[in-house]
Amino acid sequence: MDLQFDREHIWHPYTSTLSPLPCFPVKSAEGVRIHLETGEVLIDGMSSWWSAIHGYRHPALDQAAHSQIDAMSHVMFGGLTHDPAISLCKNILSLAPKNMNHVFLADSGSVAVEVSLKMALQYWYAKHSQDTSQSIRSKFLTLEHGYHGDTFAAMSVTDPNNSMHKMYKGFLPEHIFAKSPECYQIQNGHWPEFNPDDILDFETKITEHQHEIAAVILEPIVQGAGGMRLYHPEFLVRVRQLCDQFGVLLILDEIATGFGRTGKLFACEHANIQPDILCVGKALTSGYMSLAATVTTKAVANMVCSSEAGCFMHGPTFMANPLACAIATASLNLIKQNHWQQQVASIEATFEQKLPMLRKYPLVKDVRWLGGIGVIETHVPVNMEVIQQHFVDQGVWIRPFGRLIYLMPPYISNQCDIIQLISAVESALNSPMCFIAN
Ligand SMILES: *Cc1c(COP(=O)(O)O)cnc(C)c1O
Repeated sequence: MDLQFDREHIWHPYTSTLSPLPCFPVKSAEGVRIHLETGEVLIDGMSSWWSAIHGYRHPALDQAAHSQIDAMSHVMFGGLTHDPAISLCKNILSLAPKNMNHVFLADSGSVAVEVSLKMALQYWYAKHSQDTSQSIRSKFLTLEHGYHGDTFAAMSVTDPNNSMHKMYKGFLPEHIFAKSPECYQIQNGHWPEFNPDDILDFETKITEHQHEIAAVILEPIVQGAGGMRLYHPEFLVRVRQLCDQFGVLLILDEIATGFGRTGKLFACEHANIQPDILCVGKALTSGYMSLAATVTTKAVANMVCSSEAGCFMHGPTFMANPLACAIATASLNLIKQNHWQQQVASIEATFEQKLPMLRKYPLVKDVRWLGGIGVIETHVPVNMEVIQQHFVDQGVWIRPFGRLIYLMPPYISNQCDIIQLISAVESALNSPMCFIAN
C-alpha cells in the first residue's frame, strides 16, 4: 500500500498536512475484527464511529448489497421511487417514536441535521404567513458540549469550543447555548436522584428567548463527540415540558444514539418522550454506506409545506440511494429480530463489572458507561501517536480523543472481546508514555 502517497496527498478526519500522524493500513474486516495489511488483527472497539453495529461483512448485509447491485445501484429520487426506499422508510417509521410520520432521506448525519434545522425554520416561516401575530423564529437553543456535525448550520449548534466558532465568526449564525447537565451514572438499571438545578440555565434561556427560538436541538441522554457525557432522563422530561409550554419544536439528534446503542432503541425512550423532529444516521446502514434520515410528525411536515414555497426546499442528488437503502433495510431487519437488546445488555454488564476497577488509576478522572458505551476520562490528554500504536500492539482498535478513551464496540462482540478491549485500556493506563505529561 502506498502509505507515502497517503501521507503526502490525502486528508484524513481532522488532520494536518504539515505533521500527519501515521495511519494503519487496513486490508479487510470481518465480524468484530479489523485485519491490517501488516498482519495484525485488531478487535474493533469503535464500530467505526458508532456505525458498524452488526460487525463487518455481515452475511445478510453483504447479500442485500449484492442483490441490490444486480437490480440497480442508483436512480434519481425526483419523480421516481423504488422499493428499497419504501421498505426502509416503513422500517424506520415502525421503529421510531409513535408520533413520527414523514421521512426525509439524507446523505450523512450532518446533512440530516441541516435538514432538521431548515424544517424548523420553514415551519415558523409558514406559521407567520398564516398568522402574522406569530413571529418568524430563527434562533436555536442547544447545549454546551453538544456535537451535531461539521457543516455550517450543524457547526453553529455545536459547542463553540470544539467547533472553533471563533475562526468562522461573521459566517456562523449565533445561537443560544445552555449549560449542559451534569454526568450521571446508571447503576443496576437505576438512575441516581436528579438534581433540579441542572435545568435552571436551560429554563432561563428558553423563557427569555421564547419568541425567537424556532427549535431546541440536542443529543438525548448521551452527548457524544463533544465530551461523551451521560445525563439524566429527567432533564429531557423537563426539556420536553418547556418546549411544549413555549410552543418550541424539539429536535432530537439520535445520529449516534439511535438503533440500540444506549440500551433503548432510541435514547429518548429513557425519558419516555417524543421529539417533533428526529435525526438518525451512523448505524442506519451498519456502516456499509453513508445514509441518514430526518423524521418528523405530520403536523410539522404539513406546516413546512404550507408556506409560499409550497414544498420543503431540499433535495440532494443522491437522495434515497437504492444501494444504501437496501443495506439499511437489511440492517433494520436485524434490529427487528431483537437480538440487539440481549447483545447491548451483555456489553453493558461487562462494562459495569470491569470499568469501575479502572478508577484506582491516578490518571483516571471518571469512568462511566451506558448500554454499549464505555468512557474513561483521564486528567491529562492522550499522546495520540503513542497510545494508538500501543492499542495496535495490544490487538485492539480504540481511537481516543483529548482526555477521553471510549469504547462503543459492535453489538455482536462477545465477552472476551470486551474484556480484551478493557485490558488494553488498563495497560495504556499503566504506560505513562501514552499520555501527555502535565
Ligand atoms: C456524527 C454525528 C453527526 C454528524 O454525522 P456525519 O455523518 O459525520 O455528518 C451529527 N450528530 C451527532 C450526534 C453525531 O454523533
